[in-house]
Amino acid sequence: MDDSQSVPDRPVIVTKPGHSISRQDIDPNALKVVFRLQRLGFTAYVTGGAVRDLLLRRPAKDFDVVTNARPGQIKKRFANAYVIGRRFRLVHVHFGGGGIIEVATFRRAVERSEESGPEDESPPPSPYGTPEEDAFRRDITINALFYDVINDAVVDYVGGLEDLARKIVRVIGDPAERFSEDPVRIWRVLRHAARLGFSVEESAGREISVNAHLIAACPGARLYEELNRDLASETKPVLTALRESRILRHIFGKAGEAYEIDDRLFSELSSILEAVDRAKTAGVPLSLGEMYAALFWPWAKPLFEESGVDFHKILNDTLRDSGMRINIPRALRADFSQILIIAAAMERALHTGKMRWSLARRPLFGEAARLHFLIFKGRPPEKEESFETLFRQAFPGGGSERRRRRRRPRRRRQDQGQPF
Ligand code: ATP
Ligand code: MG
Repeated sequence: MDDSQSVPDRPVIVTKPGHSISRQDIDPNALKVVFRLQRLGFTAYVTGGAVRDLLLRRPAKDFDVVTNARPGQIKKRFANAYVIGRRFRLVHVHFGGGGIIEVATFRRAVERSEESGPEDESPPPSPYGTPEEDAFRRDITINALFYDVINDAVVDYVGGLEDLARKIVRVIGDPAERFSEDPVRIWRVLRHAARLGFSVEESAGREISVNAHLIAACPGARLYEELNRDLASETKPVLTALRESRILRHIFGKAGEAYEIDDRLFSELSSILEAVDRAKTAGVPLSLGEMYAALFWPWAKPLFEESGVDFHKILNDTLRDSGMRINIPRALRADFSQILIIAAAMERALHTGKMRWSLARRPLFGEAARLHFLIFKGRPPEKEESFETLFRQAFPGGGSERRRRRRRPRRRRQDQGQPF
């Protein structure tokens, strides 16, 4: 396909019936914010993923608003508005029922030198900009469209409408530069292409293969944030794309490498992620602990095959030495480790008939059971099902109680281990 793009006269403004967005599809709270800002004489648009998804006739998630009003001006005019963020200030407008609309002021691309310059006394340059500058500092063209609610028009500075029609994920600006500015954009390009079934524009594709390693230099906390975005929606297609671009190793260290090298291992992970994705689509509220345990199960499983060893310690040591770049908070690491260990005990019990039922008193036993169903049955348990029902089916006689080897009590601290 010819990926070349003609630069449109900017902006392209498309009114009805040239686009498929209907005001009824927009979150009423976002509409309230936009109308109010417009009445006060400001410009305000809905932007980001919501505009992209509505144009594709997909349900939209969060409705971000951009405006030329400054955070302080917004805060003054909305009763329940809170300014958040240090580097770039945003406003959260809170509504009854827990709804929050994020309102950002149009911003320009911030030069690297401005971002990381030494702290001095002079005031930092204004991060704010025009709508056009705001569109151009965004990641990909299909994410940089504005919806003007008052005129019922889509405003396109970057050629996003054409790329939506041609199903292309195109980086705004020079891909090499934009990736080196912020390597997380590599992940974002792959995510959107995988989720939407779009192709990655050629030069961006080339730069991804050259620059995949830059992901490893991202702060672990950002990688954690990005992974959670993928876990919150369809996970398997995105992880498959990350694997194809050899990025898993730069996120998960040895675990990622194993998933990249070993087809069988990744195919096992794929089936589990498919089950996880199906459960999410069906509205099953999976915890982060369960999803992280699902991610690591195929890789960690061999650790649980030895007997008479301290699984917590082995898992902890293995994770610590794995060169993991993603920074998983300690509490979550403790949770998914626990879930993995209990799920492995369940699997052993179904083979041996010996179950240590004291595990059932652990708070994460239910989550481990659900993970066990997802892994081995490809679905979560039905209402009347539990691990106990599985076990009774396999061992109608009740099996036997597996006694735990007496060990000196370990300190809790050891359980938690080192950060990785
Ligand atoms: P999702 O459906 O996952 O929410 P999204 O496109 O809305 O997709 P967000 O992470 O919610 O993604 O970000 C909102 C918008 O902010 C994006 O649409 C994009 O315009 C911009 N954006 C986010 N991350 C970056 C980045 N790293 N560089 C440039 N622009 C970004
Ligand atoms: Mg979003």
